[in-house]
Amino acid sequence: MTPSFSLPPEAAEPHLHVARRTLERLRTVPGLAPRYADHGEPLTLDQVAALPPLLKDDLNVALAHLEPRSEQTATWIFQSGGSTGAPKVGHAPTGFYMAGVHAHWQPLDHDDVFVNAWGAGRMWGAHFLAAALADLSGCRIIAVGSVTADEYPGWLAFLAARRVTAIGGTPSVLRLWFAHARAAGLKLPALRKVLWLGEAWQPQLEEDMAAVAPDARRWGMFGSTETWVVGTNTPDCPDDTFHPLPEQLVHVGPDDRLDFTTLNPEMLNPVLRYRTGDAGRLVACPCGRPGRAMQVLGRQDSVVQVRGLGLDVAEVVARAEREPGVSRAQVLITHQGGRVGTVEVLLLADRGATVDIERLRRELLSATFTLSTAFQHDPQSFQVRQVDGLISNDRTGKTATFVVREES
Ligand SMILES: [Zn+2]
Repeated sequence: MTPSFSLPPEAAEPHLHVARRTLERLRTVPGLAPRYADHGEPLTLDQVAALPPLLKDDLNVALAHLEPRSEQTATWIFQSGGSTGAPKVGHAPTGFYMAGVHAHWQPLDHDDVFVNAWGAGRMWGAHFLAAALADLSGCRIIAVGSVTADEYPGWLAFLAARRVTAIGGTPSVLRLWFAHARAAGLKLPALRKVLWLGEAWQPQLEEDMAAVAPDARRWGMFGSTETWVVGTNTPDCPDDTFHPLPEQLVHVGPDDRLDFTTLNPEMLNPVLRYRTGDAGRLVACPCGRPGRAMQVLGRQDSVVQVRGLGLDVAEVVARAEREPGVSRAQVLITHQGGRVGTVEVLLLADRGATVDIERLRRELLSATFTLSTAFQHDPQSFQVRQVDGLISNDRTGKTATFVVREES
């Protein structure tokens, strides 16, 4: 039988008191308590698997009620999904659980000069999480954050002069750094390590890396603002395969849906069978490291990554279809050079109806947190268009909620 948990019972079950405490907290949330009424305290992995899964909205409901606080440190409030309206929040103590990551994964060492290129601010967690890891490694840190298009040449020259050995960011952002360096004919010969988190790896990155920093290798983390870092990989692992941390219990449910249960008593978010929307399976990693690794097969829900943020396309479509005169809507995402260039909402109007396209566009842009943030510097890259027909798959005849196109 294929194992459905990342840890064997003898490794996980002694730590299930954390899951029992999380269950106790969830039972105090009025909106969630009834669903746990028929479930006893989980003492075994089978009993964990029998608990109802938590979805993102459930976790938001729980956090709004629980408002968790760290006993030992400050409590940081970060963006946690939720693509419309105000940001939904997740909580973490100072340190962001990175000591547990560092115990098993040390891509950085004391001699590194590390560029933290994850954006800081706007309640994004990744920059601070990476800073905590770098802090534990004792390396030198250059906290650059996000930069605008015309700032790349100046920063790249500075980084080359500083002989940086490591850089970290989301793959979309890393592509911009390497593409700008390559276009300028600039090399980062000392660069050895490229840390990434937040999106799937983009194989096209390797081409630019080979030209700019031939000795650089990728080091990946997998996680979310709700679970924090779940697993990590090394240059010897496939880019979609991660080794889960022992304090993260990964479960593969029906339809390959992954859910996550924290075994870390310090965890503030009540993560108990939490589904991120990712699909995956447990495999033996070709790197040879023993234990069960998690291969991520992609997302199964309607959330797609737009410039490092989750966009719930079903919500956008539902909102557009509530507009008078609109019969159907579809989201078209166009990638340019591997990055999301534009997002368009295509509208099929009722016969003879006129739709106030520009007003709907402004409304969607201002009401959709991911869109307003991702297109802050180029709002014209988000458009609403009336069309004669939506885009269908010629093979299946299906018209999907969203379509992704690649433009070179
Ligand atoms: Zn591996």
